[in-house]
Amino acid sequence: MSILKDLEPKLLWKYFDEIRKIPHPSGKEEKIAEYVVSVAEKLGLDYDKDSVDNVLIRKAATPGHEKAPTVVLQGHLDMVCEKNSDKTFDFDKDPIELVIDGEWLKADGTTLGADNGIGVAAALAILEDDNLVHGPIEALFTVDEERGLVGAMSLSPDWLQGRTLINMDSEDLGVFSIGCAGGADSHIHLPVNYQAPRGDTAVEVHLSGLRGGHSGIDIHEGRGNAVKILNRLLYQLQKTLPFELACLEGGDKHNAIPREAMARIVVKKDQVKTVEDWMAKAIKDIRIEFNPVEKNIQIAVKKADGNLPQVLDPDSQNRLLALIFALPHGPLAMSRDIKGLVETSNNVASVKCDKDKIKLHLSSRSSNMSALKATRDKLVAIAEMAQAKVEQPEGYPGWMPDLDSEILKISSKTYKEVTGKEAKYEAIHAGLECGLIGEKFPGMDMISLGPTLKHPHSPDERVHVESVDVFFKHVLKILEKLA
Ligand SMILES: [Zn+2]
Repeated sequence: MSILKDLEPKLLWKYFDEIRKIPHPSGKEEKIAEYVVSVAEKLGLDYDKDSVDNVLIRKAATPGHEKAPTVVLQGHLDMVCEKNSDKTFDFDKDPIELVIDGEWLKADGTTLGADNGIGVAAALAILEDDNLVHGPIEALFTVDEERGLVGAMSLSPDWLQGRTLINMDSEDLGVFSIGCAGGADSHIHLPVNYQAPRGDTAVEVHLSGLRGGHSGIDIHEGRGNAVKILNRLLYQLQKTLPFELACLEGGDKHNAIPREAMARIVVKKDQVKTVEDWMAKAIKDIRIEFNPVEKNIQIAVKKADGNLPQVLDPDSQNRLLALIFALPHGPLAMSRDIKGLVETSNNVASVKCDKDKIKLHLSSRSSNMSALKATRDKLVAIAEMAQAKVEQPEGYPGWMPDLDSEILKISSKTYKEVTGKEAKYEAIHAGLECGLIGEKFPGMDMISLGPTLKHPHSPDERVHVESVDVFFKHVLKILEKLA
């Protein structure tokens, strides 16, 4: 065996060593699913594999503990495949090359796949070891987590008997995840009419230099939304200097805060200087307002080349500017349980001009499904005031933190017994598999924990070797307690 041979716990590292040899990028999990099934067959355990390659393996309780509640141990089979540009590596064929770096295990120039190879290996080690004390176990291995929780989404609602679940995909030893946000998009289509401009000079206004970021993870920081800020400036400018709006565009992905936005307006030639001066003054106030979070907000006003564009008629222009001004962006509510956690938020993700309509894409998140629905309803109410139409495709569910959760109490108590330290818990304002699992299997009491990982999803991914040992001992202790 490799450089892992002296590491503890031996069984877990034995399985991790097998997993790293089997290519398992997201969407290509057939081989790793077959391997997991082969382990079940070798151990003489009952298993199921569904049409997308999710695998469920059942292990009976230790004799005398048959009446204990069934515990679901869960991890995902796929890994993110990233490598350094100078590294020659084929994720569809090559085994991950391991490197021990002080207290850490990493790969040579690629992602390691400790996310979630360690969780999968831990479950397999528990399935093999007959010297443990536990109740009935269901080991659930899901596919395609990293590209959008696809495997968890496909789970059949009658698959699991257990109603206690330990997800082993967290990245900080001693910090349990106990909640996540659900999310749902809204598409607003604002019907508009265009007409020939009365002004004679087209001007472009570019807003740039904002930080952007992830609309879940970064939403609490108060970063600026380029679409919202530029729209607000136009709304305010219109009160002092009536202009004609030809188009307003900005933003890109639904889960990113817009970093840049651009507007094309038409004015009279002698008004260009006024627009420049007004914007220069207004942007100073914006910089003060967003200081110190945004340090590089820039605005550029310049005459546009080419033919004069068609412009929105006054009614269309008013409805557009008022609509975007009224749409909420940023955190809308904080968690009542967990200090500092954003419960509900909305991202005005993009605006694009089309022939006869303006298209807006919005992304709402909440760990509280009732609040998520209310937020989406509010978007409809605002859009309808502007005579816009809204499409709302189905979203994905969140996981509302439950501080009275039994598995949280047991996990905290046993963590203290194993390490002598107090555990912490957190919830995140983004999606996790537990959100989907909790919705599919009502009454599921869940926790997510794991060893310490740094820089997952990048070639710098590394796992703290000793934390794996502590994490595993902790999981065994939880199982023993529940038995
Ligand atoms: Zn993961």
